[in-house]
Amino acid sequence: MELKVCKFGGTSMATKDSILNVANIVNADSARKFVVVSAPGKRFKGDDKVTDLLYACYSKRDDSNAFETTFKLISDRFITIAKELNIKYDISVDLRKVHDGILENNSIDYAASRGEYLSAILFSKVLGFEFVDAADIIKFDSEGDFDPITTNELIASKLSFGKGAVIPGFYGSLPDGTIKTFSRGGSDYTGSLIAKGVEADIYENWTDVSGFCVADPRIVNDPKIINELSYDELRELSYMGASVLHPASTFPLQSLGIPINIKNTFDMDAEGTMIVKTSTYKKASILTGIAGKKGFTTIFIKKDMMNTEVGFVRKVLSVIEKYNINLEHMPTGIDTMSLIVPTDEIDDKLEYVISDISKAVNPGLIYVYKNISLIAVVGHGMLRTAGTAAKIFSALADANINIRMIDQGSSEINIIIGVDETNMDKAIKTIYNKFFN
Ligand code: ASP
Repeated sequence: MELKVCKFGGTSMATKDSILNVANIVNADSARKFVVVSAPGKRFKGDDKVTDLLYACYSKRDDSNAFETTFKLISDRFITIAKELNIKYDISVDLRKVHDGILENNSIDYAASRGEYLSAILFSKVLGFEFVDAADIIKFDSEGDFDPITTNELIASKLSFGKGAVIPGFYGSLPDGTIKTFSRGGSDYTGSLIAKGVEADIYENWTDVSGFCVADPRIVNDPKIINELSYDELRELSYMGASVLHPASTFPLQSLGIPINIKNTFDMDAEGTMIVKTSTYKKASILTGIAGKKGFTTIFIKKDMMNTEVGFVRKVLSVIEKYNINLEHMPTGIDTMSLIVPTDEIDDKLEYVISDISKAVNPGLIYVYKNISLIAVVGHGMLRTAGTAAKIFSALADANINIRMIDQGSSEINIIIGVDETNMDKAIKTIYNKFFN
């Protein structure tokens, strides 16, 4: 029998209408047995996400009035949902426990996780499914590191296929029961863990958009939706800021090759985007997606005969490591190398870094460009299509965009282009128009 794990995001769980939509979706297919939910998100522009309110509550523990006022916003949201959906369950008992727990537990993760917890309790009543607390199946070790083996065993043994279950996303627990959350947006990751543990045929991730766009819709007007992409392409695009799915979500699914289908709760029939195992993927178009990120600095180093100087790169990189700076890219030539690093990590140490590199390798020339943005042009199709790079670069040249850096890297599904931040949007539009219009 086919088995699907579905995860519904905050907008899907925000109002009576959206929750009814979600219930319809689950009920429309008996394969949808395991449902992971987020905390209620924004109902309208300017509204608060319940998770943000919980963080705010935690920070106001020492100010009783402020705490109570914020907590009331949270409890009102759940009470309203329960009332409007006519749920025959008294959520006020759980709300009281959460209220006291935030004050007593002194744990920010406990506080933050309660939106998912309450959302899952209520939704399990709507569906008539079992509520399974993530604290019982998603496990961290005593150091607080995620424990994939225990988690997988618990999911496989504790989730029963009979009735169906609703599981809160975003958190798990340490061996002593202490609640720990994943990073923000982590319910996507919970969904992947559940899909792996129950060996689902597919992981449906229901959100409020109809899939991944080829480029950021804030930059390109009405971009095309990507019908299919591989785990690796997704990884490249999300690393560069495309943010439909939590970036860790593909990792648990790789070994079993479980596909992820991004779907829209508010447009159920739209196909969405299918994210599949890299090796099973067949791509029609040359490029899959384009993403860009601002805020990089380039350190350019030139020294004659650099290529024959054993240990040169190591010495340069030791300086970067010493200052605890993340190296993003390092394109090299015969006698040149560039270090691309996040500006916010190097800004206040720049002088020292340059001076240390100069001492370490005595370069002929060293200079710094700030305000660089990186654009990732991603697609397996590039591998087998000659002339893709030429097409990209001639389009950028025609648009009069100066390219500061190019790095094809070794994944071969990705060309990284550095341009001035002021040119990023124009460069993305130019590449999009060249390949997709
Ligand atoms: N509610 C959490 C957040 O806002 C987790 C999630 O929705 O995935 O980040």
